Amino acid sequence: MSIQLDLEQFVFERVPDKRPLVLAGPCSAETEEQVMETAHQLKERGFKIYRAGIWKPRTRPNTFEGVGKKGLPWLKRVKEELGMYTATEVANANHVFEALKYGVDIFWLGARTTANPFAVQEIADALNGVEIPVLIKNPVNPDVELWIGAFERINQAGIKKLAAIHRGFSTYGKSFYRNDPHWQIPIELKRQIPDLPLLTDPSHICGDRDLLFEVSQKAMDLNFEGLIVETHCNPDKALSDASQQITPESLKQLLSKLVLRKANIDNAVIMQSLDDLRNQIDTFDDRLMEIIGNRMKVADKIGVYKKKNNITILQSTRWNELLNQRIQNGEKKGLSEDFIIKVFRAIHQESINHQTKVMNE
Ligand code: PEP
Ligand code: MN
Repeated sequence: MSIQLDLEQFVFERVPDKRPLVLAGPCSAETEEQVMETAHQLKERGFKIYRAGIWKPRTRPNTFEGVGKKGLPWLKRVKEELGMYTATEVANANHVFEALKYGVDIFWLGARTTANPFAVQEIADALNGVEIPVLIKNPVNPDVELWIGAFERINQAGIKKLAAIHRGFSTYGKSFYRNDPHWQIPIELKRQIPDLPLLTDPSHICGDRDLLFEVSQKAMDLNFEGLIVETHCNPDKALSDASQQITPESLKQLLSKLVLRKANIDNAVIMQSLDDLRNQIDTFDDRLMEIIGNRMKVADKIGVYKKKNNITILQSTRWNELLNQRIQNGEKKGLSEDFIIKVFRAIHQESINHQTKVMNE
């Protein structure tokens, strides 16, 4: 199914050459004063789109779960008194109806909601006939199909002003980021839906304000369109996600340090050199495919041999030795251990699949 997009009239000024598009504001609306103070500081620094969570999906109960609908009049004040666009998370039909009553301009679906097709469908049904931009965060698990499914459900309700938010993915155990960015997943989303604007949420990827710049820069280097950054007038005192929030002034500074590179260049000479290099890459990839194809033909022969002699497919000792040898070899060629393990695991799996097929013939 293709997604129907209407991006010309996206509610916020979407100037493709003027990246990044920024949504800023607190993780949660906490008090009227905090909402207004943060909004004033953002407005003074030129920000136009104000985010604030009203209903918060917290991992554990008995923590601050958002102020609920009593915070909606505060967002209305931000819109009316400061002329900013307002954005909030909706996770069920009731949130949609309440937020619409207070003129919220943009909705987003949180990562836990995107992972739940029942919830997404309920929101889609509530949005039927409403014209409002909807931003959809990636699901908590690294599943691009589930993410696309959420776009399809909301799109089928008639919403054409859509954008994606990349906020990273849950991992088990300790990891460097709060949510692993898995950049390949938003890149795949963009490959499948090329016109869909893509924003990165460095706050929820990092979980730590000191890492925000690096992740924001990476998003810009990948030509993503925008950023949604948690911003609080007093970050350390925030009731949720304190360690990842920054002040409006820090956000301004962070943005001023970003290096924005162009996706395409007009200069014919530079483009030609780039094309030459790309041709070299294409040639190498062709050769790689040929070599891998030939390698699999050998695997097929091994499969025949193992079948004839009644030997198991998996030979753990051989696989261990092979991998260690490839890691050492890769190191000499400047290839990381992590990369070699991933590549050879995939090759080994494909080889097992080939041998299994031969065995079953
Ligand atoms: C948020 O943006 O405040 C939020 C709860 O995000 P996520 O759904 O990405 O966890
Ligand atoms: Mn948050």
